[in-house]
Amino acid sequence: MNHLNNSRNLSTQFQTTLKKPVSCSGVGVHTNAKVSLTIAPAEPNSGIIFKRIDLGFDAEIPALVDNVIDTKLCTVLGSNGYGGNLRVATVEHLMAALFGAGIDNAIVQIDGPEVPVMDGSAEPFLFLLECAGKRTLNAPRKVIKITEEILVKEGNSIARITPSETFEITCSINFDHKLIGKQVIHYTAKENFKDKLSSARTFCLESEILKMRAAGLALGGSLSNAVVFSESRVLNEGGLRFPDEPARHKALDLIGDLYLLGTPIIGHIETLRAGHSINHKLSSFIIKNRSFWSLIDCPKQIVQPDAPLVAAASVA
Ligand SMILES: [Zn+2]
Repeated sequence: MNHLNNSRNLSTQFQTTLKKPVSCSGVGVHTNAKVSLTIAPAEPNSGIIFKRIDLGFDAEIPALVDNVIDTKLCTVLGSNGYGGNLRVATVEHLMAALFGAGIDNAIVQIDGPEVPVMDGSAEPFLFLLECAGKRTLNAPRKVIKITEEILVKEGNSIARITPSETFEITCSINFDHKLIGKQVIHYTAKENFKDKLSSARTFCLESEILKMRAAGLALGGSLSNAVVFSESRVLNEGGLRFPDEPARHKALDLIGDLYLLGTPIIGHIETLRAGHSINHKLSSFIIKNRSFWSLIDCPKQIVQPDAPLVAAASVA
């Protein structure tokens, strides 16, 4: 379906997929499972679909809000059927990279329960997508345009969306830690996702590690895939990639979680002390409350994040 006919509407954007499959392997940050992953081209209107290829049955999970089954420290897709086996954890950084690269349709084949954490950011996935290159498909890109304000709260976390002419986010964090403290990051689709957000790594406090491990989480976490703050310093050799790397990573997580809506979004999303749980609460509210938005063909003038995939031509 890469043939573009003459009837295409020149005022709207078109869906994309990859030009060819690309693969990587690594460990899951929470399960420590060694996994291989292949991102492959998909048909128009199929969206992003995860496919467990190690279970011996047809195990597809569309990357959609309705299929989120857990949000504790990461976003987990799955089905409560299949004896709880059909799950793919930590999808958010890959979803953010797919969004940032402007990829609408892809099949993500994976042979284990968790997306590899790579370096803890979305940059390695974005690099893979650049290597794959991008193909335009003959189907209009749909977008959710927010028309009414939405506000959700959870504990001391807040998330709000207001109508806007583009996709923009403002993420604020407030950590009781002298090296993190208050940080605010603002990002709009007019900026470069790759440079501004993609390389920001996941982070944690050294004091939380034992607690997470006792809960069976972060079993694959290390200084090569997460920023770790002790009370007085950053333990990673080389320190931070940005002074506000934690806030940038929160923005990255938010983008990945929101892409589970199945389309990009036009609106201004603001979050305070957010995590995957409230991100999911926000997107669930959107999906369940159709009167707060309309689904439109994405106009050409609406800039969507679109990583420079030109480099792909040289490796394709
Ligand atoms: Zn993250």
